Amino acid sequence: MTKLIDGKIISKQIKDELKEEVRALKEQGKEICLAVIQVGGDAASSVYVNNKKKACAYIGIESLSYELEENTSEEELVGLIEELNRSEKVNGILVQLPLPKHIDEDRIIRTISPDKDVDGFHPVSVGRLWLGEPGFLSCTPAGIVQLLKRSGIEIEGKECVILGRSNIVGKPMAALMLRENATVTIAHSRTKNLKDVTRRADILIAAVGQQKMVTAEYVKEGAVVIDVGIHRDTQNKLCGDVDFQGVSEKVSAITPVPGGVGPMTIAMLMNNCVETARN
Ligand code: NDP
Repeated sequence: MTKLIDGKIISKQIKDELKEEVRALKEQGKEICLAVIQVGGDAASSVYVNNKKKACAYIGIESLSYELEENTSEEELVGLIEELNRSEKVNGILVQLPLPKHIDEDRIIRTISPDKDVDGFHPVSVGRLWLGEPGFLSCTPAGIVQLLKRSGIEIEGKECVILGRSNIVGKPMAALMLRENATVTIAHSRTKNLKDVTRRADILIAAVGQQKMVTAEYVKEGAVVIDVGIHRDTQNKLCGDVDFQGVSEKVSAITPVPGGVGPMTIAMLMNNCVETARN
């Protein structure tokens, strides 16, 4: 029978463990504070930001909210981040992406101090990840590793194919699966004979950004399928990069959308915030 990998339950477990850890850290006099910056009023970003603030409140992390006007200049945003970098109170800085078009996202990511980079997007964090050094892990890929481990799915020695090579999902995912001793292939839009490549996977991670693209023909019988995609279908229902209906009949385990990878991203962001106080 196909196992449904439940991100809601697993993310709750992680948040409860973190809540306990934060309580113990407070007893040692260590408080954690996350600064959350949103530029403009994009509705989807507001939902994400609110969910992050709610998770902070649940765990016992203080969150400072900076809601900036859409027309905020790049210099103003850089100035705010530099001030937060210097602040002794603030442990973590999160700038909700995407930013308005007139702001250079790469510059903003590089302005955040690597010591406060709880999203794990700074080149220093990315370098540490590939070198296997301690540092902040990119939240969605780190959440996927937790989903697999906590569902009792072995990673070591497995053929893992990652569909997508973005900086926020595909590439850090590959680094983490390599760290877990999987044999890793990254596939993308120029990959030839894509279905032959994805059918090799014991663990297939779809981060392709194409609604229901991964059909049963892309997967091997008995594989584990992780669906990172988030889309709205024609009936306005949430769905992923994987055709859940067709694929779930063929595989041994699969994440649903919603309720799979999504909730894990925030849980791992919370873990990165706690990480700032661990050392
Ligand atoms: P990007 O659009 O940045 O990257 C998509 C990748 O897929 C690219 O590497 C691209 O290849 C590849 N690709 C696109 N079309 C094809 C195709 N037809 N065949 C093969 N490869 C293809 O997306 P993200 O990585 O940012 O996000 C992926 C999905 O995950 C999105 O649906 C996004 O909404 C979702 N997401 C979910 C999160 C969560 O918390 N659950 C967090 C982040 C993202 P190439 O490089 O060659 O162009």
